[in-house]
Amino acid sequence: MRIGVLALQGAVTEHIRSIELAGATGVAVKRVEELDDIQGLIIPGGESTTIGKLMRKYGFIEAIRDFSALGKPIFGTCAGLILLAATIEGQEEAHLELMDITVARNAFGRQRESFETDLGITGIEERVRAVFIRAPLIRTVGHEVKVLSTYHDEIVTARQGHLLVASFHPELTDDYRLHQYFVEMVQVSQL
Ligand code: GLN
Repeated sequence: MRIGVLALQGAVTEHIRSIELAGATGVAVKRVEELDDIQGLIIPGGESTTIGKLMRKYGFIEAIRDFSALGKPIFGTCAGLILLAATIEGQEEAHLELMDITVARNAFGRQRESFETDLGITGIEERVRAVFIRAPLIRTVGHEVKVLSTYHDEIVTARQGHLLVASFHPELTDDYRLHQYFVEMVQVSQL
């Protein structure tokens, strides 16, 4: 099973490593045609405005919407979560608008630009190590969205059918269980 990592900007090689640890093949996706050869896609962290511009420039907005319409799973981490959201607080335009969530960018403030913690995530047995870097938060979720974890009562992991988002960076630790969770989503989508 091949899982792609959108390779326009951001933590690509780290995600590929985590995918491989979780037992699937990880490939960098730089061109829209490459979406045809993968069964799941990760949109990594980075800077969402920059990645959004590059996505528009290279035709990824429509291509990823088509990919999603086929029921193929997508996992957005940090900036990737922002890119999947229907609404971004304080901005008129969002990007892919695939997931029924409202997000706030850089929501932890300057005091807590980056930090690590252990999170309980629904569907994963033990706590998962999470690295937050200028992380977004999910402010509101639509009725089809399931909240999988919170940090101080704020939503940081959620799922809507074949779409998974996390406001932290699961690829920056050796803990690959959230990737394993995503690999299982991709497996189920193939049945
Ligand atoms: N703050 C970034 C943004 O708004 C996201 C940070 C990240 O991906 N680590 O795009």
